[in-house]
Order: sequence, then structure tokens, then C-alpha cells
Amino acid sequence: MAYVISDECVSCGACEAECPVNAISEGDGKYVIDADTCVECGACAGVCPVGAPSAE
Ligand code: SF4
Ligand code: SF4
Repeated sequence: MAYVISDECVSCGACEAECPVNAISEGDGKYVIDADTCVECGACAGVCPVGAPSAE
């Protein structure tokens, strides 16, 4: 399953630059992960200051 960004996201943008497959983009009020592109590396979860990305 792909990683998902929760509503805790504060739109800092840190995760977008870390994603090796460019699956993350700015959405409406928070950043979002394209589930079909995510390879579940966990890099986004590692850099997020509020722990918003998680594997679901
Ligand atoms: Fe990108 Fe990895 Fe996060 Fe998936 S888990 S969105 S591939 S950084
Ligand atoms: Fe949102 Fe965390 Fe990504 Fe920042 S690093 S945009 S708070 S999910």
C-alpha cells in the first residue's frame, strides 16, 4: 500500500523534495501522495516534522 499524508500536514514542502519518484505534490490544504507512483520507501515520513505521512 502507498503512503498517505494525514490532515496533520502543515504544507512545509519538505517531503516533496525527498521523494525519489516525485509522487508528492501540493494539494488543497495539504500535500498529497500519488498512490500509483509511490514506491513505499518511507523517505517522506523520515523528513516530515509532524509525522503526517504513514503507510496505510
Ligand atoms: Fe515518495 Fe517514498 Fe513517500 Fe512514497 S514513501 S511518497 S515513494 S518518499
Ligand atoms: Fe506536509 Fe510533512 Fe510533507 Fe511538510 S513534510 S508537506 S508537513 S507531509
